[in-house]
Amino acid sequence: GVADIGVTGLAVMGSNLARNFARHGHKVAVHNRTYARTERLVSEHGDEGTFVPSESVEDFVASLAKPRVALIMVKAGGPTDAVIDELAEYMEPGDIIVDGGNSHFPDTIRRERELKEKGLHFVGMGVSGGEEGALNGPSIMPGGTKESYDRLGPMLEAISAHVDGVPCATYVGTDGAGHFVKMVHNGIEYADMQLIAEAYDLLRQGLGASAAEIGKIFEEWNAGDLESFLIEISADVLQHTDPQTGQAFVDVVLDQAEQKGTGRWTVQNALDLGVPITGIAEATFARALSGSVPQREAARAALPGDAGTWDVTDRDAFIEDVRLALYASKVVAYSQGFDQIAAASAEYGWNIDRGAMARIWRGGCIIRARFLNRITEAYERQADLPLLLADPYFTEAVGNGVAAWRRVVSQAALNGVPTPAFASSLSYYDGIRAARLPAALIQAQRDFFGAHTYHRVDQEGVFHTLWSGDRSEEKQS
Ligand code: NDP
Repeated sequence: GVADIGVTGLAVMGSNLARNFARHGHKVAVHNRTYARTERLVSEHGDEGTFVPSESVEDFVASLAKPRVALIMVKAGGPTDAVIDELAEYMEPGDIIVDGGNSHFPDTIRRERELKEKGLHFVGMGVSGGEEGALNGPSIMPGGTKESYDRLGPMLEAISAHVDGVPCATYVGTDGAGHFVKMVHNGIEYADMQLIAEAYDLLRQGLGASAAEIGKIFEEWNAGDLESFLIEISADVLQHTDPQTGQAFVDVVLDQAEQKGTGRWTVQNALDLGVPITGIAEATFARALSGSVPQREAARAALPGDAGTWDVTDRDAFIEDVRLALYASKVVAYSQGFDQIAAASAEYGWNIDRGAMARIWRGGCIIRARFLNRITEAYERQADLPLLLADPYFTEAVGNGVAAWRRVVSQAALNGVPTPAFASSLSYYDGIRAARLPAALIQAQRDFFGAHTYHRVDQEGVFHTLWSGDRSEEKQS
């Protein structure tokens, strides 16, 4: 075989990645279950580089230079398993199968285990940036063996997005680490989008500003600490007018947010690991609430608001308060996401470099933002930082915004504007920094009804009070 790499699954993501490899001078073997797609790719884009098309999986594998690298870009789930099995049939020990689809990381762990028995390397690879990223430079998060990265890494780094000349691709960790990190990336994306939506709602309701005016405010924010792809596109969307009605586009879109499931996976995993990712969870539930149509109808008809009428007196001060509250809430959401990466890394033995993750998210992906540099710097200062929020830069950034944050969240509550992500992030902030939490009462309740025992603040050991007896205390160990 002659091809440096092969891509099977030539829908939009696979074709665009294949073209990206070809444009970087790699000979790319291409294959698709339905051959017509392969032919279309070669006829429409054959002049962009060297493609080696095959009609059968056997020929596709034979067209690859050894050790072979085959990238699968098909529908996640059953189809990915089917394609892996077909490829494995023709591949030899030392060859590398890469899954660049949106697979759930436990599937990746299982597949890696199964292929290792056949002597094959399996790389679960997170790819972010959608079709445009796939063609022009995505953010790439590969897992699998380090050895496979030696072969694959240079090609991935070449086709990835670059920021300040640094590629947005790096080795993440063994087996499912890459897909795990991509999952958390998507969870953070949910939080980021929800926070921006809440900021928009606050400005709209607090100021009575038009969508387009808020778009302009976001444009200004995009010149500062909040600079990011999501703020940029939000500014654009808010200034877009619906050609049919002449209304603000955002006002003609049905207010029910859908989801494909990666936010849910992130929250499920956080529950398994016991990591409080409240920002991502609230964002995921906010989408679910928006889609709860019969419940919303019933509630609209029945529930009183008893809210005040929002009367913002100092417009500029309010806008600045919302900006600061947004930044602080965003820092909390990211801090929680990086906490989850740390917990998973310890649980699954991945040894993930969190600073490197922030670095490869600076370009190509949906959450790309200036602010990610700050995260990389924080982990460079201290690789095992227990809490991103506690890094001196973030302590100061959030500290500067706390008063504004409290004003915004309390005013929103008084005026009946829902801010699930802003409010829960502020609660998290106050909870994680509290000298003492009411968890003491919960532990006492647990001891009362279930003899679940407790620790004391003043003595070592495990204790139980004989609640239904004479209420004496037993030391259990
Ligand atoms: P789709 O998810 O729509 O999948 C279509 C491709 O899968 C076609 O090539 C199709 O072949 C192939 N396929 C489906 N079932 C089988 C099967 N049983 N055996 C063999 N091939 C099969 O394509 P996309 O390009 O949208 O996405 C590819 C992957 O990338 C997915 O896992 C998706 O989740 C992920 N993705 C990632 C994005 C990102 O931003 N990172 C964005 C979009 C997708 P055929 O032509 O014969 O039907």
